Amino acid sequence: MKLEGSCHCGNVKFSLNSRTPYPYRVCYCVRCRKTAGVGPHIMGESETLEVTGEDHVGVYVTSSNPQPGQAQAPAELRMSFCRDCGCHLFLHAPVWAGKVYPWATAVDTELPRTPETFHINLDLAAPWVEVPSGTAHRSFDAVPPDSIEEWHRRHELYED
Ligand SMILES: [Zn+2]
Repeated sequence: MKLEGSCHCGNVKFSLNSRTPYPYRVCYCVRCRKTAGVGPHIMGESETLEVTGEDHVGVYVTSSNPQPGQAQAPAELRMSFCRDCGCHLFLHAPVWAGKVYPWATAVDTELPRTPETFHINLDLAAPWVEVPSGTAHRSFDAVPPDSIEEWHRRHELYED
């Protein structure tokens, strides 16, 4: 699926191909909350990413959240945002080479509606946040064990 996105002021536009376009993962961690509010990120193929207005893009270099029981050091993350309007666009991580993770909130293409929503990194959520519950919602203290690709394959939503 081809996705097109943009920042709020319109100085930056981007497009990419995604085999995993369902915005089912909402992250409540401090990093996502502080930089971009709380919204789902999706995954696409980084070699297909095209950006116009690149001179308006800033990159915030940070690290992934340490996970309980995780042996390796947190991974470097590179979060791209528009320097004019502050809109967060997508992130890259060298450990997940070949993939790019756009914020669903910056994507203008109509995304498919997800059959269920995973609320993740709730150990790091703000204490005032009200997490939706019910049959279409699942809550995770950290990151769920199955990857974004595995989730799409399990639901027969992966686009080969
Ligand atoms: Zn902008």
